[in-house]
Amino acid sequence: MEMLTGKVALVTGATRGIGRAIALKFASEGADVAFTYRSQHEAADSLVKEIEALGRKSRGFSADAADFDSAHEVVAQVHKEFGRIDILVNNAGITKDGLMMRMDEAQWDSVIDTNLKSAFNFTHACTPVMARQRGGSIINMSSVVGLSGNAGQCNYSASKAGLVGLAKSIAKEMGSRGIRANCIAPGFIATDMTGTLPEDVRKEWEKQIPLRRGGRPEDVANVALFLASDMSAYVTGQVINCCGGMNC
Ligand code: NAP
Repeated sequence: MEMLTGKVALVTGATRGIGRAIALKFASEGADVAFTYRSQHEAADSLVKEIEALGRKSRGFSADAADFDSAHEVVAQVHKEFGRIDILVNNAGITKDGLMMRMDEAQWDSVIDTNLKSAFNFTHACTPVMARQRGGSIINMSSVVGLSGNAGQCNYSASKAGLVGLAKSIAKEMGSRGIRANCIAPGFIATDMTGTLPEDVRKEWEKQIPLRRGGRPEDVANVALFLASDMSAYVTGQVINCCGGMNC
């Protein structure tokens, strides 16, 4: 029996990396999957085709996750076309690293808006639908650096810590309506986001990982599957690290 049969998922930022792996994992477990992305239309088309080849319905929406009105328009359209929304994965994210003393306002604002405000936007739009359904699972893609902090990433770390507070608050506010909210805190995962790091920095990170390897997007998708499914029916307000032990 597939773990998400009959469910509809919405994943933000799914044309690449972790979001893409989650969209495919959910579809392979029986969910219909809507997703958003920023600009990569070809990647979006090919993801739709891959999901449809798994026998599931899919549609990609080009929308800036940081934009409140766009998020509401996407959610209204997904609800209309797919009939329900059971799972929301707030995954869209960017980095614009720099030391605090050199960080400018635009660097701060764009990361906070894309990583944190986006989750507010989509959660705000989806929770009325989920409340009417008397159930839903919201998954925020945080990061180990949201829990530990990281030099050169004060904007990113703050956004990822904010996602934890958001999920814990939604868990308390909406548990009585059957809505669960949790976070995943990935460590070092091989995607475009980490692909720009110099080889020596990557090797240094890997040395600190007890499991002695970087993570794969599929490692994170497996945790997302657990949190999306009824296997985690009594889990809410939690952060699950997916980091090979680097933050233990
Ligand atoms: P990625 O490979 O860079 O992919 C980012 C995805 O987000 C793309 O689909 C991109 O769309 C989309 N996106 C970016 N800005 C957007 C916006 N304003 N509106 C809508 N979509 C937007 O990133 P990743 O490594 O898979 O990371 C996914 C999430 O996991 C992020 O929140 C990241 O912070 C978090 N995370 C990653 C790691 C890691 O090691 N990789 C570790 C911890 C946490 P386009 O393709 O159209 O640009």
